[in-house]
Amino acid sequence: MAMSEEFALRQSIVEACRRMDRQGINQGTAGNISARWKGGLLITPSGLPYEEMAADDIVFMTMDGGYQHPLPASSEWRFHRDILRQRPEVNAVVHAHPLYCTAFAMCGMEIPAAHYMIAAAGGPSIRCARYESYGSPELSVAALEALVDRSCALLGNHGMIATGSDLAEAMWRALEVETLAKQYAIALQIGTPRLLADEEIAKTVEKFKDYGLRRKPRVA
Ligand SMILES: [Zn+2]
Repeated sequence: MAMSEEFALRQSIVEACRRMDRQGINQGTAGNISARWKGGLLITPSGLPYEEMAADDIVFMTMDGGYQHPLPASSEWRFHRDILRQRPEVNAVVHAHPLYCTAFAMCGMEIPAAHYMIAAAGGPSIRCARYESYGSPELSVAALEALVDRSCALLGNHGMIATGSDLAEAMWRALEVETLAKQYAIALQIGTPRLLADEEIAKTVEKFKDYGLRRKPRVA
């Protein structure tokens, strides 16, 4: 019997959580993932180890933040909901505390265009949002400001957010952004990274727009 579309999406969220661990972009259970679903969102539960997580454990939340589920939704549900509500082109949000992104976020530093792959984040910088307490409405505001014209952002003294038109794209960006942060950190130790012009990054952003079209169709 074919899996229901909702079950497949729930399962892909569970698999993405485990992939974050394998790819080293997550620390413990800090990471959380959401995907738009039927006027609301599916979001990972709070504090449940990924190896124990099953498709049914993913919480369906309405856009007013309500849900009926035995497990509590991620304590960081608010910015997931607020990004999905305010950015209609976004259908998935990945949040984690990866080592290098978080180190830059601890310094309040943005990542500049020292490599053309920054175009994966939508522009010539990955901004760092000001610090706000986790789960707070203020954090949502700060995150949305940092995400203007961008698909990814650092959260000051906290971590990273990557968004996508689907979960695969958000996961791709999360890994690219952590890789960029790592490369930039090493480059800063070796010398002075040379930055690319904004126009060059704008051209690369346009090239990347084809990226989604060339991907293989997802197998449910
Ligand atoms: Zn967090």
